[in-house]
Amino acid sequence: MTTTLLGCIADDFTGATDLASNLVRTGLRVIQTMGIPEGPLGEAADAVVVALKTRTVPADEAVAQSLAALAWLKAQGAGQIYFKYCSTFDSTPRGNIGPVTDALMDALGTDFTIACPAFPENGRAVFKGTLFVGNELLHESGMRNHPLTPMTDSNLVRVLQAQTPRRVGLIDHRTVARGAAAITQRIAALRNEGVGMAVVDAVSNDDLRAMGPALASLPLLTAGSGVAIGLGAQAGATRLADAAQLPLPRGLRAIVSGSCSAATNGQVAEFIARGGAALAVDPLELALGHDAQARALAWAQERLAGGPVLVYATAEPDAVRAVQAHLGAARAGEIVEQALAGIARGLVDLGVRQLIVAGGETSGACVQALGITRMRIGPQIAPGVPWCHAPTLLAPDGGLHIALKSGNFGAREFFTQAFDVLG
Ligand code: ADP
Repeated sequence: MTTTLLGCIADDFTGATDLASNLVRTGLRVIQTMGIPEGPLGEAADAVVVALKTRTVPADEAVAQSLAALAWLKAQGAGQIYFKYCSTFDSTPRGNIGPVTDALMDALGTDFTIACPAFPENGRAVFKGTLFVGNELLHESGMRNHPLTPMTDSNLVRVLQAQTPRRVGLIDHRTVARGAAAITQRIAALRNEGVGMAVVDAVSNDDLRAMGPALASLPLLTAGSGVAIGLGAQAGATRLADAAQLPLPRGLRAIVSGSCSAATNGQVAEFIARGGAALAVDPLELALGHDAQARALAWAQERLAGGPVLVYATAEPDAVRAVQAHLGAARAGEIVEQALAGIARGLVDLGVRQLIVAGGETSGACVQALGITRMRIGPQIAPGVPWCHAPTLLAPDGGLHIALKSGNFGAREFFTQAFDVLG
């Protein structure tokens, strides 16, 4: 058992899972909740990640939801708070990273925190306060064209300063490379100068690990998922060899895929090429009201005993564009999400207890249809995609193992290999 609970507030769903997975890798037992639970946690954990959807909502809404999450986490005994945002620092001059950080600092009564989106393993490095995405500067990467949070400046000190009245400073790589004691000294010096938030450089996992002990006494950390790598050993947390352990897997296996990303298209093709049982659902048929769900479930019922089945709407860009031209992009997305969510539910009714869902939005719809409000985070299948175990009324006999894969994650063999990870 740990002496303190790490309380995490994530600004989106798949980002929450990404953070939770990194925490498990450091030996913490982690529960992720979908939104703010109504009651107490009621389970043993070293860290809890509350998944919100606040990245692009108006700043005052993001602040209100984050403060409510903070209050719930404090009530569960959280000793330190970790505000998780995207490793590309997705935000605009209106927020939401600055305003949420300010509100959390005020509520926690602290005058200092860090900001560090670095995740070198995934190609996000911060050097001299400048964020690199792979080998590109942030503002020269694809993020400059993001529809909601275009990132046009790579200097995070400037980006964050535009979002907060507090003074923003820098803990640069010369300091980080000298280790935790140097970082602690630099934090004290910045505090004396009246700096309230400091961007921290990190270009390697060693930098992130060096940071951990220096951050232990800060009531609030703000970061991507990378900083979590340095936290496992701090605050008296016991490194549990079995942190990633989930209940034994049982039941039938299925995959539901609504992602049309390049990686998922490859994974579907690979699953089929290896002889997997796969059924495509046609969005145009769904739109006509044909009972494709019932047919998909009847098809699955005949095959589930033979191994994992895949039900997919996944299609190549040309096919997706053709469907969108007929139905409109939003309606097509909604129809497919709802159909796949209904199929996921039906599959669990048929005895599926190991389920993979591909697609961020698709995952949201399926989790909702399955009535899942919390998940225990288990072993990693691919970076950012862990197996999880969730209680649901649909599987009262011991819950459901579920993996939620956002679009471009995972290697080509993901669907064929994922079940082996669970054992
Ligand atoms: P990703 O994580 O790859 O972005 P999402 O599930 O978030 O995947 O988004 C994919 C969207 O595309 C969903 O809204 C889904 O319903 C929709 N979709 C899936 N298949 C099709 C298709 N064949 N035609 C049109 N839209 C589709």
